[in-house]
Parts: sequence; structure tokens; C-alpha cells
Amino acid sequence: MKFKKIIGNLVVFEALLLHVGHGEELLNQRVPHLVLHLFSRYEHLFMRAINYLAMRDWIHRFKITKRIVDRVSRLVIKNINGEILTLEESCRLIEEISRRGYTIAIGTCPCRRARNQLSDEMPNNTDMVFGRWAEEYIENYPGLYEKIDREKALKLVKEFEDYGYFHQLYGWTSPENSTFVLCNCAPEVCIPLQAQRARGYISFRKGRNIAFVNEEKCVGVKDCGICFKRCPFGARFESGGKSAVDTEICYGCGLCVNTCRGGASGLRRESKRELIFADQILD
Ligand code: SF4
Ligand code: SF4
Repeated sequence: MKFKKIIGNLVVFEALLLHVGHGEELLNQRVPHLVLHLFSRYEHLFMRAINYLAMRDWIHRFKITKRIVDRVSRLVIKNINGEILTLEESCRLIEEISRRGYTIAIGTCPCRRARNQLSDEMPNNTDMVFGRWAEEYIENYPGLYEKIDREKALKLVKEFEDYGYFHQLYGWTSPENSTFVLCNCAPEVCIPLQAQRARGYISFRKGRNIAFVNEEKCVGVKDCGICFKRCPFGARFESGGKSAVDTEICYGCGLCVNTCRGGASGLRRESKRELIFADQILD
């Protein structure tokens, strides 16, 4: 019964995604209100289904079930426009969104709700939604989402960074109906990241930066190693006792930079990487 319900939700969601179109077209397309409404109402169920499908070994053992899940995953990934932002980019995004007068709301992370992983020590309310979506969430989840102003949003996003949460932007935009979510993700809870680790499904693009290390300033992995703990993507490795970055793996999230003990870590812009979605707002 439970399984039927999950499949039913996926079918409905797939139909909705097909209805709104594909890829970059979406970025400038007016998103039907029905899609926003249903997604804001049933997001936790959708996330629960994704979590279930990605984490069950039996699904990936059988060709047929694996094919279905791969297809659904590709379809979702193609349409949700996820990309990694640094703290500085997240703050600029909030500034710009607030300048344009969009509503900002904060609510409980849907991945935490989907996985029943609410924390007593770490922040749970990390799902920052903007524009039409924010209004939908406030309406559909009174008590779970609340409207916040620019100052509070900026303060929160900095606190999340301190906790080691990385920032991802998702959404669609159009002049009439812009709608975004800035997920501030705890790596051990984030379903997209867990699905990536477990099955290789990548639902968000890399950011436009890559981390680097000034070897002379690095105090050494044995004595420090903070950047290893901070990196959600496992992009750090040891070289001659110092920390180094695997540039193929680095997502450019910047979590390793502000906490680097020797001030050795930095970010540089990578010309081949773009923020297709956030660039419409940031530059
Ligand atoms: S946090 Fe900075 S100083 Fe510490 S190991 Fe990493 S690069 Fe070196
Ligand atoms: S190396 Fe730094 S910037 Fe790159 S993914 Fe890891 S934490 Fe993020």
C-alpha cells in the first residue's frame, strides 16, 4: 500500500515535470501555479520517495527497477536546476531577491522531515524559499514555514555556513512567477548528496569556483585537517603532509575556506564553470 502510494506520487510528479518542459527553457518559463502548489504541498513525500528509491539495494540489483529509477532520476535532475553557491553568492542572491521585493520564508528542511532526522543540536529550519514558492509554503505549512526579512535571511545563511551546511539553489524563474529555494544542507542529511554518494545521481551542478591551497601556509593535515572535515564532497587529499584539492571532485562550495586555520585555502573562478540559473540574478 505504502509502495503504491510512493509510485503514485512519482508518476504524478513526472507528469508535472513533463508538462512544464525541459532544461533551459524552464529557466524563463512561467511555471504553472498548479506545479508550485503541488510541489510545495507534497515535497516531503517526494523527497521520501527519492530517498527510498536511492537507498534500497534491491532496487538497484534488478535491471528493470534500476532502469525505472535511473529514468525518473534523469528526468528530475534535468528539470530542477540545482547548483552550488558559496556563502558570498548566497548573500548576494538574498540581497537581490529582497531588492526585487520577493517574499522570503524559512522552514524545516524537507530532507530532515523525509528521513525523520530532526536534530536537537543542529538547526532544522534551513529551507529558505523565495518568491511565489515562499507564499505557497507559508500557506501550506503554517507553523513549519515563516516569513523572514532580509536581515534575518542573511544572518541565518551565515550561521548555517558555520555549522558546515552547504548552499544549493534550486528552482525556476520567470518575470511573473519567480520561485527559488536556497537549501542549506547538512551533508549527512541531504538526500541529493546521499543519492549522489550511494548511486552516483547528481542533482546539482558544481559552483563556478574551485578551491586551492597555498602549501606554505597550510599548517599540515596531522596538526589541523579541518578542511577534510568541512568538505562535504571528499575533495581533499593529503600530499606531502599538506592538504590538497582534487579539482575534479571539488564543487566550489567554499566551506573549507573560512575555517582554514592557516588561511591557506581560497577559491578561484573557473572559467569553464557557470551558474546557469543563479547568474540571472547575480550578474
Ligand atoms: S584547514 Fe587549512 S591549514 Fe588546516 S589542513 Fe586544511 S588547508 Fe591546511
Ligand atoms: S574542497 Fe572546499 S570548496 Fe571544494 S568541495 Fe570541498 S569544501 Fe567545497
